[in-house]
Amino acid sequence: MNDLSVAQRLAPATIPVLRERGQRQVFCGLTSIVWLHRKLQDAFFLVVGSRTCAHLLQSAAGVMIFAEPRFGTAILTDRDLAGIADANDELDRVALELLARRPDIRALFLVGSCPSEVIKLDLPKAAERLNARLLPQVRVIAFSGSGIETTFTQGEDKALTALVPLLPATTDKQLLIVGSLAEVVEDQLSRLLRQMGIENFAFLPPRRATELPAVGPNTLLLPAQPYNGEAVRALLARGATLLEAPYPLGVEGTTAWLAAAADAFAVPRERFAQTIAAPAERARAALARYRDKLAGLSLFLLPDSQLEIPLARFLHRELGMRLAEVGTPYLDRQMVKAELDLLPAGTPLSEGQHLERQLDRLRAARPDLTSCGLGLANPLEAEGYTTKWSIETVFTPIQGFDQAADLAELFARPLARRARLAV
Ligand code: SF4
Repeated sequence: MNDLSVAQRLAPATIPVLRERGQRQVFCGLTSIVWLHRKLQDAFFLVVGSRTCAHLLQSAAGVMIFAEPRFGTAILTDRDLAGIADANDELDRVALELLARRPDIRALFLVGSCPSEVIKLDLPKAAERLNARLLPQVRVIAFSGSGIETTFTQGEDKALTALVPLLPATTDKQLLIVGSLAEVVEDQLSRLLRQMGIENFAFLPPRRATELPAVGPNTLLLPAQPYNGEAVRALLARGATLLEAPYPLGVEGTTAWLAAAADAFAVPRERFAQTIAAPAERARAALARYRDKLAGLSLFLLPDSQLEIPLARFLHRELGMRLAEVGTPYLDRQMVKAELDLLPAGTPLSEGQHLERQLDRLRAARPDLTSCGLGLANPLEAEGYTTKWSIETVFTPIQGFDQAADLAELFARPLARRARLAV
């Protein structure tokens, strides 16, 4: 794990990238199930993993479950791992029992983990086998959320990529928005698109796994999350075209994101301006009081959610924060090109992680605020740093005009808390 190679490269906008490989502190892709199971309301996510996987999911999602959950873990026991039991038979049995008990489930995702990968359990083949028995009532889909292959939000990318071959074909001109968004955000953005006169649009993932959007040569892709690069490339392979835009964070990001859609559908400039005028103005006014609190303070973003680059752009350009370092688990240039172009020249940008070195740089920079994963927050707080859990930016609705101030509040709150503690 301790490959110490560090390479300097040049990104667009002449931002040097520090590339690191070493010890990492990030969640695995199973974490994506926490929001995917809420999004896809007719789906169940069956993790084929160990007790560790089950504990991760329970602790990440347990507090949010109010009804019967739509995820679970088929625990691989010592007998499975030793190859004594036929794990395929066991998996089929668990899946069929689950579906008999839960007739509301129309899509079953088999989610791979580190243990299922290690024993080479072929989940795509298991999905094929189960589909032969269960279609058309239930569709079974496999993807990997293992920590060997994925980090945190990459679980969503893998899930969406697995859905792409199932999307029906279309030649209609349409906008396809790629990436999970909270329903409130989807509704607001849908309203704005309709006000501009864009009617033919869809979201991937949809709210129901049985209502998949179509794709084809006249589909225009507008990513709403920066971590779905593999799914986007699978959609491009089906003939779609990618619209280049920053992500809809803050007034600037949301305006540019909507403008990309408006331009692609030849919406008259005036109609576009009229549509966004009131919500953009409201958001600007709401952000002003956060700018007073955050401007001039330094921010260090450790790599975690893959949202770090768009967040850095928003926090710097709209709230005046200084960027001490922007870390990202991996740099997918196709997905963040427009964002990189908006970062100030000379922004310290790092890809991957060598934890000890990064913490050395953090201690040297002594930032006013550090965004990091849960595991690092407490130790850093104990050292006197003010931290923000990056996971909150994934679980909280933050996109769009009406959420701009909520996003700013997420970063202002830890500073206010520390100020109160210091009194
Ligand atoms: S998939 Fe791997 S990294 Fe994730 S909880 Fe299971 S064992 Fe741990």
